[in-house]
Amino acid sequence: MKKTRWYDYLWIWSILYFALGFFNIFFAWLGMIDFLVPIIIAIVGGNKWFCNNLCGRGQLFNLIGKKLKCSRNKPAPKWIASKWFRYGFLVFFLTMFGNMIFQTWLVGSGASSLKEAVKLFWTFRVPWSWAYSAGKVPDWVAQFSFGFYSLMLTSALIGLIVMALYKPRTWCTFCPMGTMTQSICKIRNKDTESAI
Ligand code: SF4
Repeated sequence: MKKTRWYDYLWIWSILYFALGFFNIFFAWLGMIDFLVPIIIAIVGGNKWFCNNLCGRGQLFNLIGKKLKCSRNKPAPKWIASKWFRYGFLVFFLTMFGNMIFQTWLVGSGASSLKEAVKLFWTFRVPWSWAYSAGKVPDWVAQFSFGFYSLMLTSALIGLIVMALYKPRTWCTFCPMGTMTQSICKIRNKDTESAI
């Protein structure tokens, strides 16, 4: 029987993250851990150890889809795993991330005002003011929180939709973090090979 390790329970962290952001939007900043750790591991270790062991989101999709049987468990259409779609989605995602940083900068520079809302699917603005107490931190810090939480929630919802429609971890086939770390590993391992 497979030995259970502490990091097999990181799916709890995934749930906790969204729950905390529901009550206090500043917890959104903690999502940076899930952004930076996989990149650091890919750069330093040249592998996807994060995806294979530490990703609470991947574990959560497995749990809901496989164990709780909330997935149709059908193969996803081939185009979802195609290179053009994976890299296209990565470019789109990074553009949206850049736009979020730009909005944060606009608020920080006073050119725009803070929007106490979460934007779902980059389109639907959902008021979220209960999770924010004005004046405690600079507005740009709050703007980043709302923007980053929007990004995290939107990607989780997309992941849940494809989990329900196809296999539990279909999101992983085009997850921007997965595509990005895979590219880093490829470049890094090529460099290592050519240095030998
Ligand atoms: S591909 Fe994305 S969601 Fe899947 S395990 Fe890796 S980081 Fe997590």
